[in-house]
Amino acid sequence: MKKTRVIESIKEMQAHCESLRLSGKKISFVPTMGYFHEGHLSLMKEARKTADHVVVSIYVNPTQFGPKEDFSKYPRDFERDTQMAQSVGVDVIFFPANTEMYPNAYQTYVDVEQVTQNLCGMSRPGHFRGVTTVCCKLFNIVKPHSAIFGKKDFQQLAAIKRMVADLNLDLEIIGLPTFREPDGLAMSSRNFYLSQEDRSSALTLIGVLRLAQKLYADGERNAAVMIKQAEKLINGAQFTAIDYITICDATTLEDVNEIKGEAVMALAVKVGKTRLIDNSVLGEELKA
Ligand code: AMP
Repeated sequence: MKKTRVIESIKEMQAHCESLRLSGKKISFVPTMGYFHEGHLSLMKEARKTADHVVVSIYVNPTQFGPKEDFSKYPRDFERDTQMAQSVGVDVIFFPANTEMYPNAYQTYVDVEQVTQNLCGMSRPGHFRGVTTVCCKLFNIVKPHSAIFGKKDFQQLAAIKRMVADLNLDLEIIGLPTFREPDGLAMSSRNFYLSQEDRSSALTLIGVLRLAQKLYADGERNAAVMIKQAEKLINGAQFTAIDYITICDATTLEDVNEIKGEAVMALAVKVGKTRLIDNSVLGEELKA
């Protein structure tokens, strides 16, 4: 298999992608913060299937972490990531330094105003501004025809789609299903932080989503009723603290009371010291 090339410079990345575009090649892009798991690889495999050239970025973006969050201890393993990317046929890893992405005098940010308000926007102020800013920059650097994101980060995907539509960015945004462990836990680089006890408590997140799907299938449409049961389940587990459990409109991400259109149950729960998120669109198959 062809060796995956690593590019660190923005100018080099732009020149590389420009020449691919000029020769008519389709570029698909998977932005990541690294420390790969099967969820990341599922996005790369899809990119490999649908495009001529696959670019993956590995960049732990400082502007999306709050001052008390885990930026400095976020897990990193570039060698392992490179091997995993190579194993699924990634052509290029873009691996920029902070000084390359945010040089002195940097002062421009992209702010998507509404879909970033609720859910994680409440407990992580500034997070989505960092995400949309770095993605906008990465899109200008990689110039992809399509970019692939996971629905695991549902609000992130909604914010990126809004930004691309609002700023007329010329690429397609594709969202793929959450890849789960055999027991249903959503794969996440942050699962690495979980102790053995945390790991079993973390299963209450998928438990809640399964319960919500069951209630929905049985005809329940009152969000408060479903949320109350979900809270009971999480509060019954050890080492858990609810950040939020909500049912919201799948496009605007505003809370709903009576479920009518497409709605998603989304939750963020601290398990031990680790904040985990998960979600499921009600009425959609929950693969786990
Ligand atoms: P991250 O490295 O956590 O920033 O994630 C990079 C991309 O992988 C984002 O689009 C995430 O939504 C996606 N992703 C993370 N975990 C999963 C998962 N379990 N299944 C599918 N996609 C995922």
